[in-house]
Amino acid sequence: MQIEIVEGDITTQDVDVVVNAANSSLLGGGGVDGAIHRAGGPEILAECRALRAGHLGGGLPVGRAVATTAGRMTARWVVHTVGPVFSAEEDRSALLTACHRNSLLAAAELGAETVAFPAISTGVFRWPLDSAARIALAAVREPVGSVRLVRFVLSGEAAFRAFSEA
Ligand code: ADP
Repeated sequence: MQIEIVEGDITTQDVDVVVNAANSSLLGGGGVDGAIHRAGGPEILAECRALRAGHLGGGLPVGRAVATTAGRMTARWVVHTVGPVFSAEEDRSALLTACHRNSLLAAAELGAETVAFPAISTGVFRWPLDSAARIALAAVREPVGSVRLVRFVLSGEAAFRAFSEA
């Protein structure tokens, strides 16, 4: 896998798939989720509502991933995944790995070649950046189907530095 690390805004990336750090409701939130829905427009939310009305009636479980349109973003699709909330008592790193692997599998099912990830779980879900960066990078090293490029698009200098060092 070719892996790139950049500082920037994930909503303006020229890639096939933008991964969203969503919440289980799929009905929008703050952080990168809010930015993706604002940039992509109402078509994304409409597809999320349809998923909730269909096979995801109970919401999207932590660690799983599901695709929708990217609306008016440059990307073709958004793959929504739900990261684990960080816990100091319980090791939830397998769930964070699963978010990345299942997002790549969903992207490969679409025939995507290029995928942009945010730093999943490092915002409202409080996962320490250095640890999240190590887990995320280890999770995407193995090739998955058609996907040949993973780009981590980090918001802010601290996140960029953590991923670069990892
Ligand atoms: P989570 O609930 O998984 O922690 P957040 O959206 O709160 O998700 O944060 C995930 C990461 O996304 C944070 O590091 C945050 O700084 C970053 N982020 C927020 N907006 C953007 C954006 N437009 N592009 C890339 N990363 C972003």
